[in-house]
Amino acid sequence: DTQVPAHFIRQIIATDLKDNKHNGKVVTRFPPEPNGYLHIGHAKSICLNFGMAIENNGLCNLRFDDTNPEKESVEFMESIERDVQWLGFAWAELYHASDYFEQLYIYAENLIEQGKAYVDSLSAEQIRAYRGTLTEPGKESPDRNRSIAENLDLFRRMRAGEFADGHYVLRAKIDMASPNINMRDPALYRIRRVHHHRTGNDWCIYPMYDYTHCISDALEGITHSLCTLEFEDHRPLYDWVLDALKTPCHPQQIEFARLQLEYTIVSKRKLNQLVTEKHVSGWDDPRMPTIAGLRRAGFTPKAIRDFCERIGITKQNSWIEMGVLEHCIREDLNDNSSRVMAVLQPLRVVIDNYPQDQTEQLEISNHPQHPELGKRQVPFSNVILIERDDFSDTPPPKYKRLVEGGEVRLRGSYVIKCNAVIKDANGAITELRCSYDSDTLGKNPEGRKVKGVIHWVSEQHALSAEVRLYNRLFALPQPDNEDNFLTAINPNSLEVLADCKVEASLAAALPESRFQFERNGYFCLDKDSVEGKLVFNRTVTLRENWEK
Ligand code: ATP
Ligand code: MG
Ligand code: MG
Repeated sequence: DTQVPAHFIRQIIATDLKDNKHNGKVVTRFPPEPNGYLHIGHAKSICLNFGMAIENNGLCNLRFDDTNPEKESVEFMESIERDVQWLGFAWAELYHASDYFEQLYIYAENLIEQGKAYVDSLSAEQIRAYRGTLTEPGKESPDRNRSIAENLDLFRRMRAGEFADGHYVLRAKIDMASPNINMRDPALYRIRRVHHHRTGNDWCIYPMYDYTHCISDALEGITHSLCTLEFEDHRPLYDWVLDALKTPCHPQQIEFARLQLEYTIVSKRKLNQLVTEKHVSGWDDPRMPTIAGLRRAGFTPKAIRDFCERIGITKQNSWIEMGVLEHCIREDLNDNSSRVMAVLQPLRVVIDNYPQDQTEQLEISNHPQHPELGKRQVPFSNVILIERDDFSDTPPPKYKRLVEGGEVRLRGSYVIKCNAVIKDANGAITELRCSYDSDTLGKNPEGRKVKGVIHWVSEQHALSAEVRLYNRLFALPQPDNEDNFLTAINPNSLEVLADCKVEASLAAALPESRFQFERNGYFCLDKDSVEGKLVFNRTVTLRENWEK
């Protein structure tokens, strides 16, 4: 087993357990807002939250932070559940912040009764103007000293729907001069007549994120509320709300650095824009850094979890190279995927001395290092297809593949020799005429060395396939740093090879199964496959040479 790095959150939890803080329990949660599909950044948070629970015999909940109904949907909720499960995690409980709307409302009345919240009639712009800046204190609203009785009455009438959207907000009464702007009487509730995908039209007031999140954590008995660094400045508010309400449980908020991954974007809002403006085919486009996209590209849950462990957890923002993620998937697929032969740009080869009506079933092992992955039958006949660039009539120095008059080994099969090159009127090569040495199956030829080994398929047995070669979606390492991230899109992120031929054994492959196409890379069978035309997505090249 590999050594697990002791990142700072692991250490905090270990110390808390030793000190019997939180009664010796670990309860975490992963709290996505269902306003898009999960991306690789969320995977970091998922692996951390579920990982800390699993390592410490604790529990981790999945909680939808669904307080922003305009942008949320059932489709997004379902995709999130699917993606968390696919990554290999099981939540203890599935909750929604909207489950707590009534309780949140009762708590808000409690704050009002304590004189710690008030109903404000300032408009959104006024509130912004009154808030002050980093260098200047804010200004108190004229409504700040409304009586408790009046605040309660107004808040109840807000709930009852007596006022138009935006007419009032409920604000916490904290400190307009606080150096922390989040503490300058933040809004707790706003009036918004929107249909909620779970609570329908029950509510016309909705609680704000900061107010909702800490109470939801407390209601679930969360011990360690792990979130990203941008919430560090919100922690005083998190603690203020829970202290004011004297909740039975007071979770500990701990912040860590967000994942920033080169050559991609991790923001649901921007990913949404890529989808709605059709820069990609959908949330699960294999170029997307979404879990669904990575899955469709052929990534494994194991590789993604491995990636999240390798990048570690720190408090320093940094950029992770795409090569790290690619390394993780290469390592997994190299170890676990079956080898098959696929010819992406076919060139016809006729073997003149092989009987025309004969088919031979060659047994080829699925993985050279893993005999337990078994063997398969690969048909061989007198007409085969090889890769166009595995033949050259003007070979560069050290070219080890097929040349006129030269020999090459067909993987798992015989040695062939090229005797003639057939060209069309324009001089393009259309066919090679070869002969085979019948004494070279599974053994070296007599008296000579044949260095090159190439892959092939039998023409009459091969299946047609479309192969989609994906490259990075962005041409720049930090597309977010551009004024408009769309200008950083890589115009060559997809190359479609429509006339590929793959070996017959792939007829039985199921969507999402993953293969190494010998010498070509790692590929995954796509859901777009139909009878007579398989579709494969390239997950990653065999080696680190993506520009190729
Ligand atoms: P986005 O900007 O993509 O919408 P978000 O933080 O608003 O991100 P949430 O749905 O609120 O998205 O995220 C759920 C959890 O995942 C949060 O705890 C959040 O901190 C975490 N998370 C989101 N993005 C990243 C990231 N890039 N790296 C690590 N954790 C992340
Ligand atoms: Mg969020
Ligand atoms: Mg967001």
